[in-house]
Amino acid sequence: MSKLSEIFGSNVFNDSVMRERLPKATYKALRKTLDAGLPLDPAVAEVVANAMKDWAIEKGATHFTHWFQPMTGITAEKHDSFINPTPDGRVIMEFSGKELIKGEPDASSFPSGGLRATFEARGYTAWDCTSPAFIKDNSLCIPTAFCSYTGEALDKKTPLLRSMEALSKQAVRLLKLFGNTTATQVTTTVGPEQEYFIIDKKMYDLRKDLIFTGRTLFGAKPPKGQELEDHYFGSIKERISAYMKELDEELWKLGISAKTKHNEVAPAQHELAPIFATTNIATDHNQLTMELMQKIALRHGLVCLLHEKPFAGVNGSGKHNNWSMASNDGQNLLDPGNTPHENQQFLVFLCAVIKAVDEYADLLRVSAANPGNDHRLGANEAPPAIISIFLGDQLTDILEQIEKGGATSSKQGGLMNIGVTTLPPLPKDSTDRNRTSPFAFTGNKFEFRMVGSSQSIAAANFTLNTIVAEEIEQICDRLEKAADFDAEVEKIIFEIVKNHKRIIFNGNGYSDEWVAEAEKRGLPNIRTTVESIKALVAEKNLAVMEKHGVLSRVEMHSRYEISLEHYIKTINIEALTMLEMAKRQILPAVINFTTDLAASINSIQATGLEVDISVQSELLSEVSSLAAALKKKISELEDSLSKAQAMHGDTYEQAYSYRFDVFEKMGELRAVADKLETMVDADVWPFPTYGDMLFNI
Ligand code: ADP
Ligand code: MG
Repeated sequence: MSKLSEIFGSNVFNDSVMRERLPKATYKALRKTLDAGLPLDPAVAEVVANAMKDWAIEKGATHFTHWFQPMTGITAEKHDSFINPTPDGRVIMEFSGKELIKGEPDASSFPSGGLRATFEARGYTAWDCTSPAFIKDNSLCIPTAFCSYTGEALDKKTPLLRSMEALSKQAVRLLKLFGNTTATQVTTTVGPEQEYFIIDKKMYDLRKDLIFTGRTLFGAKPPKGQELEDHYFGSIKERISAYMKELDEELWKLGISAKTKHNEVAPAQHELAPIFATTNIATDHNQLTMELMQKIALRHGLVCLLHEKPFAGVNGSGKHNNWSMASNDGQNLLDPGNTPHENQQFLVFLCAVIKAVDEYADLLRVSAANPGNDHRLGANEAPPAIISIFLGDQLTDILEQIEKGGATSSKQGGLMNIGVTTLPPLPKDSTDRNRTSPFAFTGNKFEFRMVGSSQSIAAANFTLNTIVAEEIEQICDRLEKAADFDAEVEKIIFEIVKNHKRIIFNGNGYSDEWVAEAEKRGLPNIRTTVESIKALVAEKNLAVMEKHGVLSRVEMHSRYEISLEHYIKTINIEALTMLEMAKRQILPAVINFTTDLAASINSIQATGLEVDISVQSELLSEVSSLAAALKKKISELEDSLSKAQAMHGDTYEQAYSYRFDVFEKMGELRAVADKLETMVDADVWPFPTYGDMLFNI
């Protein structure tokens, strides 16, 4: 491997490449767009396109693609080659400013939730110059936003970019009120920690459920699970280590600052965290990271599972979305400093977040909802489906002081003595951590922990950006009118603490007591994806998205439809896969097993010897009754599925039926099959078991 500093960003058309290759004036003009958010001059694009093409061709690229993020949650690309024929029968390599700025993929097969009639196939992609172009598989990839002929967002990037502008506008306004004269832009920053599973490809290939749905639909608990917690931070196995090394290198080439990697709690589970970046770039990078994780695994005979719950009974995977706000004069607006009780600016930004999360908990909840995540949220491993904020000792204490009339001190962490003379005393953080909170303050940022491992982080972040922008705007409106600025600041902080402290909870989020307590506090507990989707069309949510220009009412309705349809399709595929496996693999295997047992009983009896065959006959009878139960559950699932499939008209009703009828029947069928797995001969079981998959690397 060449030096890390040499390979880092080597496939990215980043700032240093631009500075080197663009004429000074062009570079300056582009920087203006990037730094001040000014519109881009088409003449500039022409020059940039040419420089990009030359650079890409030198790097071996033959094609270019507008790379975008449709509502499927994964990225899309359509490749065009640079070649252009000349009259004398040769080709030249061309790439114009027009081709850089605008693409026109046929959009008719991407989900639009009714935004487009199927005959209106046109969609447009527009260059997002705030996220650098890069080279992947010999193609120059240009990050783009994707919209319909009428300009409605058909993707995850557009609302994210809009929300960043909305937040910047309000946050700069607030900073100005605090006397800041240097900040002209505030960006939100994100560091997403990504969890994933790795299994052997040979095992994967034998499981139709993993192939079709990304998760196991059957599988009895292995004798060993994660109870010893011996996998967490454990030393990394050689095969996995080789994989992680190659992954790191490929990510670094794309300028993705993969930093931390370790084994997670569940066997075969791992985590990767990059260094944070602006929300837009972090989102693009996370999409690329997921893509490369899967691609590179295959080179090692492995498969990377990004599903939120590939295996029942052990932890699932999530994404911790570390989020903060940074001004372009170098401040982290959520950095409390050493004496946060005196830091009014910090306290106001903090209160804006608290109020936002309390008032729009349902919107945040739906931003992390998908069928896979339903297996985690509210189950005993991931944060509960109830949204609350963990602030820790220091900030909680300050807010309590404020409520009582004024804060005069900030608790400090001090030094920790380990009790061994040769070990140095360690400075202690002012607050311990809490792993059970869905929205935790972790020193100088918030960690939103509900997001699912397979999801794009765009929705979580455009939601956060928008609702915080709204609260900051309300605060600015008051402060601009106030006669006494300091007094009004104190009043605002006091009121928010008093009215929204119900959202703050520092205890164990996994406990039953919390569920009861949260209900008393009036906090929503939205257990399923289907129910959470309603938030997308709730009036207050439509209003806030519309007001900040992030998503129009029409766009919100389309997302409501798309989310419900996605749920329906996912469960439909899972149910069909289950039926196929149960009918064509499990049932035949069980029947063979009973046939062999019966034959063995017969042949023993035929010897005429007085032999005790109670074991064989008991087993035969138990397995046969379970087989009958399995057949019954298959029929019940088939009935529920046909009913759900036949429902037309109201998408919500149909999704509801998939969740509360089909999905329930799937659980019942699985229970019987898993019982059978523990009783029949291991050799006849038709696919690899949990033990095989989780412990064989
Ligand atoms: P842990 O698992 O201990 O929470 P990690 O180091 O795995 O911590 O991940 C923390 C993530 O938070 C990293 O991606 C880091 O870059 C990110 N982060 C740190 N500071 C900020 C910030 N100001 N804004 C956004 N993300 C941040
Ligand atoms: Mg971590």
